[in-house]
Amino acid sequence: MLSGPSGVGKSTVVAHMRKEHPEVWLSVSATTRKPRPGEQHGVHYYFVSDDEMDKLIANGELLEWAEFAGNRYGTPRAAVLERLEAGEPVLLEIDLQGARQVRESMPEAQSVFLAPPSWDELVRRLTGRGTEPPEVIERRLAAAKVELAAEPEFHETLVNTSVEDVARELLALTNVV
Ligand code: 5GP
Repeated sequence: MLSGPSGVGKSTVVAHMRKEHPEVWLSVSATTRKPRPGEQHGVHYYFVSDDEMDKLIANGELLEWAEFAGNRYGTPRAAVLERLEAGEPVLLEIDLQGARQVRESMPEAQSVFLAPPSWDELVRRLTGRGTEPPEVIERRLAAAKVELAAEPEFHETLVNTSVEDVARELLALTNVV
């Protein structure tokens, strides 16, 4: 599983890796967040209502879930287990709270932390995304401070200086699982 502060570039690295290695299956999460421009239902996320998320949680359909910056996010359990049973590599891109839950329920999972080259660079990336209002950016930066402090909990740390390099390193680690 890949974790790290919002804005660090997790999605970009994963997209780069999967362009060349589509065999690495990425779990599509459910979220109550509204889609950003260009995000598609069933591709980037399953965009669900609060009621639908309540049901997914109550029915035990999520492997893990967490509230992040005012929205809920969760990993659909069945699809992940299906891939793992078939012996296929599975990648989860989740926040710190989710990573902690997966570590509990699947101690054999490899956990990777993607770190920014510097705090200033993270602020620049989050602010520069231009898709979120200032109060959302503030919440994400506050969450990022907590996430950065949790880096030692992870098996591996990759610093996102070059998308190509990190994607290559991540592929090697994903195949370890
Ligand atoms: P974003 O809104 O920027 O797409 O995602 C916000 C945060 O939620 C990111 O750190 C992302 O990795 C995390 N996230 C995405 N899907 C899940 C999920 O299924 N579970 C958890 N715990 N976090 C997720």
